[in-house]
Amino acid sequence: MINIAIDGPAGAGKSTVAKAAASALGYIYVDTGALYRAVGLFIKENGKNTKSEYEIKPLLNDLKISLKFVNLEQRVFLGERDVTSFIRTPEISMAASDVSAHPAVREFLFDLQRSIARKNNCIMDGRDIGTVVLPKAQVKIFLTASPEERAKRRYNELSEKGQNINYDDVLADVIRRDNQDSNRKIAPLRPAKDAIILDTTDNTLSQSIDLLLKIIKENI
Ligand code: C5P
Repeated sequence: MINIAIDGPAGAGKSTVAKAAASALGYIYVDTGALYRAVGLFIKENGKNTKSEYEIKPLLNDLKISLKFVNLEQRVFLGERDVTSFIRTPEISMAASDVSAHPAVREFLFDLQRSIARKNNCIMDGRDIGTVVLPKAQVKIFLTASPEERAKRRYNELSEKGQNINYDDVLADVIRRDNQDSNRKIAPLRPAKDAIILDTTDNTLSQSIDLLLKIIKENI
């Protein structure tokens, strides 16, 4: 199977760009952030503290999480419940970042991610895909952009969905999440040694997609 790993900070456009590239190649697009978000949602719904591994660990025994692909589109399930549309709020973004710092949570999601990659040609997007989850991926890309540009994109995306937010809060959130993701002890956000860096700050979306496809085609 062909596995493409795409890592990078929040809001770099990974999901949009990777999804478009996957669809052009006929691969599935796996958004691993959705898994951490679903765990964050589950922990919050159970009234536990997302920062406490001690509180979270026993709950993992009851956690049934799965991904389904409908026309190459990913849906995320908690048990039988499709939670895809409930995990895209700033509150759950932060909860996901919190729970992702716990080794027990990362281990819990590890096999699920690997087994999807074993069975499918895929572009898998996350923070540690090239470094930890799929160290043998045929192509590894680190997709990034400046914090201001990323905040601008996220702001536009959330406003379009009707969420009432302000740009400074979004920027503060991006910076806080960058710090938390880059400085955690386990699987910190960083490019794999053999990753190709793609900085999209000055690119339009279609330029980024074209560049990504070019890099993939040249390297598989
Ligand atoms: O990509 P997304 O913003 O949806 O990810 C939500 C959070 O999940 C990130 O802030 C990060 O802390 C965590 N994450 C991770 N490893 C991954 C994917 C996401 O730690 N492979």
